[in-house]
Amino acid sequence: MRLRAFSSGSCGNCMAVSDGTTSLLVDLGLSCRAICSAAKACAFDPGRASGVLFTHDHSDHCKGAATFRKKFPHVPFYANGATADAISACTGAEDGWKVFETATRFAIGGFTVEPFPVPHDAADATGYLLSSGGRSLFVATDLGCATAQVRDALSRADCAVLESNHDRALLLASQRAWPLKQRILGRSGHLSNDDAAELLRECASTRLKTVLLAHLSEECNSPHLALEAARSALGDAGCAETAIEILPRGEPSRLYLI
Ligand SMILES: [Zn+2]
Ligand SMILES: [Zn+2]
Repeated sequence: MRLRAFSSGSCGNCMAVSDGTTSLLVDLGLSCRAICSAAKACAFDPGRASGVLFTHDHSDHCKGAATFRKKFPHVPFYANGATADAISACTGAEDGWKVFETATRFAIGGFTVEPFPVPHDAADATGYLLSSGGRSLFVATDLGCATAQVRDALSRADCAVLESNHDRALLLASQRAWPLKQRILGRSGHLSNDDAAELLRECASTRLKTVLLAHLSEECNSPHLALEAARSALGDAGCAETAIEILPRGEPSRLYLI
């Protein structure tokens, strides 16, 4: 399996996953033009994707949906019912939806897709475990806390794209309004570096070869702090060999082989 993120963070989220036969996109949170330009630079053809999986209806995950729908009308959009309705309403992308039930697995080409619920202040946010050829990719980029379903999916992953949004002290010291701080820190907000580290400490197995820290706040985090927290947790979990990297904001990541 191959993975490349085109961007990760509040500036926009979109990534491409392929098993060599089937290609999928996860989220369209950049303009369609930016997605196409990043895809071109990475030799990925969005028009040949077998589907787009949406995690939730916040604009940093779906703002390119309407234009993408017009440009690539044959590529189906996958989401649960509440997310499909919310994205249709906020972007105008009304056609081409394939609606799934969260927590019910299904297939797209060679991939098995397992959507699991995540606590986040959107219509009905999901994470995904995407499996093909005996390898599994965990994706959870916007969640306020970890649930049993999140832990179960992470424990079965070879590679994890996991939110490490903020450093709690930097967030509290920031100029952000108190209601926004409360929202981010809440159980339906975003995972801090310490939250992500605790989850890795608890659930990382020796199977987990790569951790890609995602959705880092530009203002309230630093790559150094996020990496240190995750590295220490993986060491505690007996997974010191697991590679840890950060998915960049606003530009494509390198290509990861899973
Ligand atoms: Zn987001
Ligand atoms: Zn969100």
